[in-house]
Amino acid sequence: MENKIEQVNNYQAKPDDLEKVNWQERINKYFRGEMHTHSVLSDEYNREAGLDNKEKAHRIERVLDFYAKQGLEFAVITEHGSDPGNPRQLKADDHICRLLLEQAEELAARKETSEKGIEAYSSVEASIFFDQDGQAVLDLPPEVLGKMDVVIASRHVIDRQRESEAIKASFLTAINNPDVDIIGHPNRHIEFYPHDWAYFKKYWREDKDLSGALEKMETEKDWDSIKKIIGKKDVEDSDDNFIQDSREKFISLESDYWRMWEEVLGAMEKKGKVFEINLNSFVPSKNFYQLLLAQAARLPNLKFSVSYDFHNLGQLKNIKDKDLQSEEIVGVKSPERNKAYRLLLDLCDLLEANQIGPDRIINSSKENFIKFLNNKKKSRLR
Ligand SMILES: [Zn+2]
Ligand SMILES: [Zn+2]
Repeated sequence: MENKIEQVNNYQAKPDDLEKVNWQERINKYFRGEMHTHSVLSDEYNREAGLDNKEKAHRIERVLDFYAKQGLEFAVITEHGSDPGNPRQLKADDHICRLLLEQAEELAARKETSEKGIEAYSSVEASIFFDQDGQAVLDLPPEVLGKMDVVIASRHVIDRQRESEAIKASFLTAINNPDVDIIGHPNRHIEFYPHDWAYFKKYWREDKDLSGALEKMETEKDWDSIKKIIGKKDVEDSDDNFIQDSREKFISLESDYWRMWEEVLGAMEKKGKVFEINLNSFVPSKNFYQLLLAQAARLPNLKFSVSYDFHNLGQLKNIKDKDLQSEEIVGVKSPERNKAYRLLLDLCDLLEANQIGPDRIINSSKENFIKFLNNKKKSRLR
């Protein structure tokens, strides 16, 4: 893995590329600090379950060293509480909570004592989930959330994952929680592309009759009917009831879904919660993400954060080579770009296309980030 990290550290654009466009400057305009990066403490839930270092996360100093080499000014060290794959409500005196609080104190002390260098901020990524009574809750208690520089709340494994009402209820719980600052990877696991057969099919998974019938269409390669259901072909009067019904179901699922986003994004704007553009799951070149970001961009007071959400620095390698083959953007030849920077450059293009300026990105400069932290303090005092 060391090699992979070196590849990144040593990456430099060729001089002729730099002449064409200064891509570093372009990135710097939007990204001066990493807003969501994990360290060893995020593995604590695994250790408690007897699985040691499953995430292969790094020590904080190693993480900071990496980001310092990238030229960043700060990094937000974000840790999990309970297992995101099986979240549960933790109490303030649980072992993990005590460790989270200790780490926050250590990071605060580090700020006082460390020389210039890169700054580190404390953070947790609380999991949003439904408890036994069907109420949306966070896994971490207010005693922990209240002590962090930054609180991110994210949906991970959660019941009724694709039901718009349930998605909304889960988001609103986090949005209405005064301790939460950022909604983490809001798109993750609920990407609903235009004409998205897979989403539709998964939505009906519990309904054995319907999902069986949809599955049959696929095995029989009845593409014509499938295209009609997902709206790639017109439904005709002569089509059977099942196709007509399924088309209606698709239309209402899709409109409920986008209405959910309208309400969720509106509530985020109103409550001052930040929309996290998490490049671990947000793919700027794909149309679903473009649609979602365009909708968010229309709310003038909604702010964004940009992050990679690394659990492990080797994660960079997960960006596939084929992702580098897509069309040229801003004059930098794709193969010349570092893989992770490629995503960020694609995002810069998308932000500009949506007229989202650096002023709306809380980590586009240290100054913006400090302003965000100060606003948070003020709203807490109120
Ligand atoms: Zn997450
Ligand atoms: Zn994370």
